[in-house]
Amino acid sequence: MKIICIGRNYLPHIQELGHQIPTLPVFFLKPDTSIIVRNRPFFLPEFSQQVEYEVELLVKINKLGKYIQERYAHTYYDEIGLGIDFTARDLQKKCIENGNPWEIAKSFDGSAVISKFVDKQNFKDLNNVNFSLRKNGELVQVGNSSDMIFSIDQIICYVSQFITLKIGDIIFTGTPKGVGKVAINDRLEGFIENEKMLNFRIK
Ligand code: MG
Repeated sequence: MKIICIGRNYLPHIQELGHQIPTLPVFFLKPDTSIIVRNRPFFLPEFSQQVEYEVELLVKINKLGKYIQERYAHTYYDEIGLGIDFTARDLQKKCIENGNPWEIAKSFDGSAVISKFVDKQNFKDLNNVNFSLRKNGELVQVGNSSDMIFSIDQIICYVSQFITLKIGDIIFTGTPKGVGKVAINDRLEGFIENEKMLNFRIK
């Protein structure tokens, strides 16, 4: 399986990082070695002084697809989840300055925290799903999927032109504003609507 992450998909987050608004989705990959599941702790890597959380809605692909049309994209997923796209922001800034790829900042071990998945039928409208993140009990990020620049179906349509999607692939759909640094002993708790999806420690 692979993890596909969309960058710059929420306007206020683009503004907080001073990036340009994309005209097409921006995406990058994380390897299977980046995955943390079952609320296991995240160990801060020694190579960054600024690892930041980015809470994101996740989509799990349920069948093989290539050149998926937007109007059929909804048939390629049954479940959504919540994840953290951990980012070494100091390294990412250097990558951007130097015009280099982002892997050292985005794809390191443990950088993809993944929750359980829930049936999409639990939600009236997938384009109006609230999600949030608390750090040490304090609300730090709040998002709603209606604020995405590119919808889940548009993302699947776009990405599948370049990369075949396979069963079990997971898409991180972008983070809203409010990203921030984590430190040892922090606790992160993530929610979709009122359901707690993530609850883990930084070590
Ligand atoms: Mg992200």
